[in-house]
Amino acid sequence: MGSIVAKFGGSSLADASQMEKVRNIVMANRDRRFIVPSAPGKRFDGDTKVTDLLYELKHTVEYGKDHKKVFAKICKRYIEIRDALGLSIKIEDYLSQVEQDILEGESSDYTASRGEYLNGLLLADYLGFEFIDAADVIKFDRRGKYDQSTTMDLLAHRLRDVDYAVIPGFYGSMPDGGIKTFSRGGSDITGAIVAAGAEADLYENWTDVDGFLMADPRIVPNPRKIDCLTYRELRELSYMGANVLHEDAIFPVFQAAIPINVRNTNHPEETGTM
Ligand code: ADP
Ligand code: ASP
Ligand code: MG
Repeated sequence: MGSIVAKFGGSSLADASQMEKVRNIVMANRDRRFIVPSAPGKRFDGDTKVTDLLYELKHTVEYGKDHKKVFAKICKRYIEIRDALGLSIKIEDYLSQVEQDILEGESSDYTASRGEYLNGLLLADYLGFEFIDAADVIKFDRRGKYDQSTTMDLLAHRLRDVDYAVIPGFYGSMPDGGIKTFSRGGSDITGAIVAAGAEADLYENWTDVDGFLMADPRIVPNPRKIDCLTYRELRELSYMGANVLHEDAIFPVFQAAIPINVRNTNHPEETGTM
């Protein structure tokens, strides 16, 4: 059996109909073994990403304002997905725990990371895959710097006997157990790290565009797609602001010589950019 790590971005997991597309993609190739989800993103123009709602939640609690309204918005996102997919997971219990932890002073990183954590729980249930908490396998040192050697050892050990799993993106943990996130867009980094740790054959990055384009489609209409580019060219473009893929998501797979394939969840028939 080959092994593919597939990371799905926020818009790919924004609601139940997007989740259905993700399930079809995952099930279409049994080599897609390790799935890295983002938090639910924007469903439409002007919508708010769950990660942004979570930062707002932390802010309201910190400043002693009423947090109930924004917390209810967050709950609604997950409960709607759970119900529309007909899942039985008691996501309310996890949500209450998150609320309690934040009221008791849990950090901003912890709060933000729950977007991916809760979405990972839903997705694992939907796919019938094991859930592996990123806090157990992605590690940072005391200063908050990503700890590659510890993470590689933990991942290799943890994934050795696992056929299929969901590992939430964006966060890991520090030696004292506290949650630490990567910078915004960091689920791309988790995907790359899991690909290296699993010695995957391919790192698929599923997003909302047909691949790496010659320009940002939000600025230039209908830019041409790039079929193939080198790690170096990708790094240069990412650094220059073509933020399809987080710039720190390149090194882990480059080092392990794992190809990256950027693809569109809404057009899975397209081959994307290699
Ligand atoms: P995800 O939520 O899946 O991680 P992102 O929003 O982080 O997705 O990245 C995909 C977006 O990157 C696209 O919707 C597009 O607007 C933007 N983008 C910027 N530059 C480019 C480019 N050169 N090629 C393709 N997409 C680009
Ligand atoms: N949800 C996080 C963010 O919005 C991480 C990610 O989507 O990659 O930045
Ligand atoms: Mg992104």
